[in-house]
Amino acid sequence: MKIKVLGAGGGEVTGSCYFVETQQAKVLVDCGLFQGTEGAGGLNRPPLGADSAKLDAVVLTHAHLDHVGRLPLLAHTGFTGPIYATPATIEMTGLILRDAAKIQAQDAERHNRNHQRPDEKPIEPLYSLSEAETILRQLKPVPYDEPISVAPGIRACFAEAGHMLGSASIKLFIEEAGRECKVVFSGDLGPKGAPILRDFETFSQADVVFLESTYGDRDHRPYAETVEQFTEIVKQAVARQGKVLVPTFAVGRAQLLTLLLASIFRKKIIAPFPVFLDSPMAIEASRIYARHPELYDDDMVAYLKEGPLEQDLATMKMSATADDSKQINNCPGPCFIMAGAGMCTAGRILHHLRHNLWNPQAHVIIVGYQARGSLGRMLVDGAKKVTIFGETILVKAQIHTLGGFSAHAGQTDLLKWFEFIAPVKPRVILTHGENGPRTALAKLITEHYGLKPLLPGLGEIIEL
Ligand SMILES: [Zn+2]
Repeated sequence: MKIKVLGAGGGEVTGSCYFVETQQAKVLVDCGLFQGTEGAGGLNRPPLGADSAKLDAVVLTHAHLDHVGRLPLLAHTGFTGPIYATPATIEMTGLILRDAAKIQAQDAERHNRNHQRPDEKPIEPLYSLSEAETILRQLKPVPYDEPISVAPGIRACFAEAGHMLGSASIKLFIEEAGRECKVVFSGDLGPKGAPILRDFETFSQADVVFLESTYGDRDHRPYAETVEQFTEIVKQAVARQGKVLVPTFAVGRAQLLTLLLASIFRKKIIAPFPVFLDSPMAIEASRIYARHPELYDDDMVAYLKEGPLEQDLATMKMSATADDSKQINNCPGPCFIMAGAGMCTAGRILHHLRHNLWNPQAHVIIVGYQARGSLGRMLVDGAKKVTIFGETILVKAQIHTLGGFSAHAGQTDLLKWFEFIAPVKPRVILTHGENGPRTALAKLITEHYGLKPLLPGLGEIIEL
């Protein structure tokens, strides 16, 4: 038996994908898209060679694009088997893959319109919406904490990972020639104590552990402090009739901020004022969150017992259409606008920034990671002017960066997760982290537990 690292290796954080192979079975754990320069570098095509036609099954840790975004490519190569995931992950995967197919079609169309020379072949989207729909029909729901058979000789057990709605760590029981090997894939782990979701579960038995290391070198600012900072900014903005713009990733952060505002209103810290969720995808993601109260943590359950969210959010508007979005310009302020894209690289947030960045009374709150070269990163780095839709805009608005709303466990929480499995001295394999964080985490695991983690490269094969 062996496992090949087909993504999120070699210091790469995207493209998560592991190929588990025994004499009698072939299973993929995640099938994520490479994003950023790596994706452009051609890693996304072809994904898995001819193997995918002979695959028995896929298991998914969670629905983020860098964990599910290559699934429709399996449809290309004739994979018709089951893809196992928790019910919430199935719903989220639908939302995310349909959006990805749409964006790829738009990107290809724009590229071909702007860049095509007569001798150049037009670029094709990585996959079509219908390929995404085909693969979505193969998703099969699995419960948490119940081992199920996924392929001959391979069972899988899903455990809460606390990272996004439906997220799981997966333990595989792999049998070959009368021998069993237990392999735990942490998936992406969430920070302990984050709102809405339950904290990650831990494991006490494994032969091999694949652990993510995104923030293996540092901790985030504590959540409670970040909430205080956030509340202060909103208070100031409201006092001066200012607008607050938040570039928001549609899944996770938008729901967290919605809950925060609801609780600020309920506690009467600030009187309710207009709030806009200006993102069809975030609106849909919020509906999926609302359909899965069984995944909420105790605090969230208690909060809802006290009164429904809608009661706190009477001043919140869901801006589904482009017209709804334009209407927001007529709101004099104060108001709070959440819109995508999360890094200000496209989408409705650009219109709001264009209309408001010049205004010293406006606030922009950055709550997520901003990649180098993105407009969001320029704002974080203190740019005095930026270009939006070809127009130069002076930046007079107040820009705030809040680091404590991350959906990823920091170093301390990663070690807390590992602490439970460490006594059985498993082989440790660190993936899903740039080399700095990955090496830092490896060093701590060696110091605390005397184990020597492996830091595999892309394509590396681990014999079990
Ligand atoms: Zn993730």
